[in-house]
Amino acid sequence: MLTTNTACRVCEGRNLERILELGMQPLANSFVDPGAADKPELTFPLDVYSCADCGLLQLIHIVSPQILFRDYIYVSTTSDALQKHFAGLAASLKERYALGPSSLVIEVASNDGLLLKKFRDLGVRGIGIEPATNIAAMARKDGFEVVNEFFGLETAKKVQTQYGLADVICGNNVLAHVNDLKDFLGGVALLLKPQGGVSIEVPYLRDFIEHKEYDTVYHEHLSYFSAAVLVKAFARVGLTVYDVERVPIHGGTIRVHAKKASSGVAQTERLRQALDDEKAMGLNDIAFQRRFAADVARTRDAIVGLVTRLKKEGKRIVGYGAPAKGNTQLNFCKIGTNLVDYTVDKSPLKQGKLTPGMHLPVHPVGKLLEDQPDYVLIIAWNFADEIIRQQQTYRDRGGKFIIPIPVPRIVE
Ligand code: ZN
Repeated sequence: MLTTNTACRVCEGRNLERILELGMQPLANSFVDPGAADKPELTFPLDVYSCADCGLLQLIHIVSPQILFRDYIYVSTTSDALQKHFAGLAASLKERYALGPSSLVIEVASNDGLLLKKFRDLGVRGIGIEPATNIAAMARKDGFEVVNEFFGLETAKKVQTQYGLADVICGNNVLAHVNDLKDFLGGVALLLKPQGGVSIEVPYLRDFIEHKEYDTVYHEHLSYFSAAVLVKAFARVGLTVYDVERVPIHGGTIRVHAKKASSGVAQTERLRQALDDEKAMGLNDIAFQRRFAADVARTRDAIVGLVTRLKKEGKRIVGYGAPAKGNTQLNFCKIGTNLVDYTVDKSPLKQGKLTPGMHLPVHPVGKLLEDQPDYVLIIAWNFADEIIRQQQTYRDRGGKFIIPIPVPRIVE
């Protein structure tokens, strides 16, 4: 159920140093049935290590992916921002690789089929690969072909036999979940046409550190990538990262574009610049990363201080959102029903349950207006703009918001 790596998953170096300790935590998506509230929850170490050789920030305690991903609770289509993001991604890849009706796009970790749908809207055929059986079924219901497997060399061979090679392979928010990177990226290389393109999005280490997004750390999220480390990881399997874009989603993301090294593709100026910037700021240096850990402790103390003070003044505080990342924050800060009465979330899969660890009840979003609490702590802070816009009525009636990260602030 739990294994421990002794070497870095990108460079195989063994100089791993623990730089951030978030303690023993339950799995961030293991929401609890109210009837089971008294039962002890399984917890696992949640500590972040840095590789002194290549700079990859990583977890080394690995919970079995069968436990984490076979029955998954995260559904893309619940967010308006993601709808827009994926529509833009599909359109830009269509243009970049001149995709048409005879092209094939393969999406690894296709979730509920949101990106596949955006490609279909543009007349491009896409098939999905998705290990979560419950979520693969949602995409199939929408008429998509989905291979219900974890991705790696073995699955890539099966997919190749059944569907042939891909013009474009996409993977959004999946690479950071993968322990055996070489097997995963090897599968990508195997499935790609000689001139095909790869588009991978991961949360960006630079945003993670600059905005103190320590709540992005949970057991599913094994690697915190810089552009420089991605270039190395891809190169090991014969793929050349040739371009990079910064995308303002999930608190700061990078999208890297890669092709086969044998295609002779050259690095763009934009990628060279990003790599130079990382070097100049020391992003991949352990000393720089160590300072981040000290900042995280300060951020925690500030948010706990603010919420405790408001509570003492007799204010009623509830949460907004029950994302996986929110549970790292709640558990690390020990914010439970002593401070926040409950949280609300759009996902019906989470409503009626308790958050892992701190056991905040999760209600539908409509409860905010019925209840009109004094403050809403935006646990899903990366969607703060969208949430505040949608809750204009709550705000008009005098409701206030707290955005906890990077520095807690109140929005009136
Ligand atoms: Zn390394």
